[in-house]
Amino acid sequence: MNIILLGPPGAGKGTQAQKLVEGRNMVQLSTGDMLRAAKTSGTEMGKMVAAVMDRGDLVTDEIVIGLIREQLEAGGDHGGFIFDGFPRTLAQADALGELLSEMGETLDHAIELEVNDEILVDRILGRAAEAVAAGGTARADDNEESLKTRLMAYYKQTSPLLGYYYAKGDLTSVDGLGTMDEVEAAIADVLA
Ligand code: AMP
Repeated sequence: MNIILLGPPGAGKGTQAQKLVEGRNMVQLSTGDMLRAAKTSGTEMGKMVAAVMDRGDLVTDEIVIGLIREQLEAGGDHGGFIFDGFPRTLAQADALGELLSEMGETLDHAIELEVNDEILVDRILGRAAEAVAAGGTARADDNEESLKTRLMAYYKQTSPLLGYYYAKGDLTSVDGLGTMDEVEAAIADVLA
């Protein structure tokens, strides 16, 4: 079973992906995590994407498609892939479809976590404050300025994917405003 979690930043994609990893032995493929790891380890690619990410803009399709291709080719025994934060553009969605079909795999569900913007701002700025309170550092892009850019990128570049997957008959929307357990249960119903 291969699924996409769709939704704006702060919708809870990472949290729900983690639950699916624990409960179903699925593999979470988060391009955001992969890019942050490249940034931290200071690879050439990491250096190239750092400023774009900190600003809240999208990195190029070529880079993220390459990252996903590597992970898909790595293989392994598991319950399927959860695409978290990928695809974010129509070109990425097409590329994912091609990669999966080359592997003889299919996409089973694109699940949208529906939330409203006020919640997103509260959640993201809350996430930054919690990280700092715990003695760590907040994500470089968890600030009001970058958040505005990230939300705009979502509405302009990523939200068309809702229509794309709807047209393919793959889209289900769940209410992302409930508690973590409620959202988890709603996703479990979709996958049942
Ligand atoms: P995320 O952790 O998913 O919120 O991603 C953090 C940042 O990484 C985004 O704001 C983008 O700059 C970059 N990024 C992550 N995934 C993608 C993607 N699929 N396409 C383009 N940029 C991405």
